[in-house]
Amino acid sequence: MEENIELYDVIIIGGGTTGLFTAFYCGMRELTTKLIESGSELGGKVTQFLPEKLIYDIGGIPQITGDDLVKQMKDQAAKHEPTIVYNQWVETITKNDDGTFTLASTDGTRHQAKTVILATGNGKFDPAKPALDDRETFEGKSLHYTISNPQQFAGKQVMISSNNRVGLDWALTLESIAAKVYLVNNKASFQHAADEELQRLEESSVIVKLNSDVQALHGENGWLGQVSIKSENGDEQIKADHLLTYNGLKMVPAPFENWGLKTDSGRVAVDQQMNTNVEGIFAAGDATAYPGKTMLIASCYTEGLTAVNSAKKYINPKAPAQVYSTVIYRK
Ligand SMILES: Cc1cc2nc3c(=O)[nH]c(=O)nc-3n(C[C@H](O)[C@H](O)[C@H](O)COP(=O)(O)OP(=O)(O)OC[C@H]3O[C@@H](n4cnc5c(N)ncnc54)[C@H](O)[C@@H]3O)c2cc1C
Repeated sequence: MEENIELYDVIIIGGGTTGLFTAFYCGMRELTTKLIESGSELGGKVTQFLPEKLIYDIGGIPQITGDDLVKQMKDQAAKHEPTIVYNQWVETITKNDDGTFTLASTDGTRHQAKTVILATGNGKFDPAKPALDDRETFEGKSLHYTISNPQQFAGKQVMISSNNRVGLDWALTLESIAAKVYLVNNKASFQHAADEELQRLEESSVIVKLNSDVQALHGENGWLGQVSIKSENGDEQIKADHLLTYNGLKMVPAPFENWGLKTDSGRVAVDQQMNTNVEGIFAAGDATAYPGKTMLIASCYTEGLTAVNSAKKYINPKAPAQVYSTVIYRK
């Protein structure tokens, strides 16, 4: 164990719905908790794939959008103020001689805990990046793969390159903020777009260029000035301050085998207590494999609380196997 790094009872890897509920439950079991998420946002697949979709199969909630569910889960997780670390991909997990774990992220940061709960899902989903010269020069300044702060585009000329409804949605979002919005699609239609969205696009001021592709970026010091596009009608250069691209997502699997874990079809094999084959490492949610496993949010909750109860027992074998929230919060 390294003296100068704070030792937590539990480190949760992954801030999807499993990680968020697990963080809340750790607090309920009076375990000091750090949650490490590779992305800049919490919510995992629910945030990335179903933010606006209605979810109907969670007990006690007749219907809720993905975004609203994640918002409520963040509020619930915040009850016990866990430490949350963003933008760190956990690369290595080492079990120390004293039984504690040291985790290292790709940026070199180290973390320590008595136990680890894997809530990694299958891994992370990164945006597919366009094959453009000098792409890296513009990334982070004027080339973007998501809209994290719409106001940064206020009064700017924005080009969106996408053949998916995600790009269409971005265009409609930025229409009222940016000075001008171009939507460049290398196909003739938008994948997964609803009729209502296409109607809104038609009625908007967004300039749509179908069967057109971004060819080159022009600018200085990472700031765009012009974008070259190629279409059936030939090449043209368009003034643009920012380019946003969405061409699907690429899965980066979590390195379970490197962490010494037994897997089954790419997921971590667990027993009924959510123990992995490494003592002190537990798993929950879409990361896990066991007979009868279902990939559902409700299952993630049960697995998360079981993993926390197991971690509690691992740290303190005399601790009760379970507790009631009605009793805990009456105190
Ligand atoms: C299209 C679609 C529709 C669905 N509809 C429903 C539905 O109607 N009802 C339902 O119950 N379920 C539904 N699901 C399933 C549900 O979304 C998942 O079961 C649930 O989101 C899994 O949550 P999770 O937290 O286990 O994993 P994820 O949501 O995948 O979260 C894992 C998190 O861990 C992070 N991570 C991974 N590896 C690392 C690492 N090494 N370091 C740091 N961070 C890491 C990732 O960045 C990610 O944020 C649907 C899924 C999809 C794709």
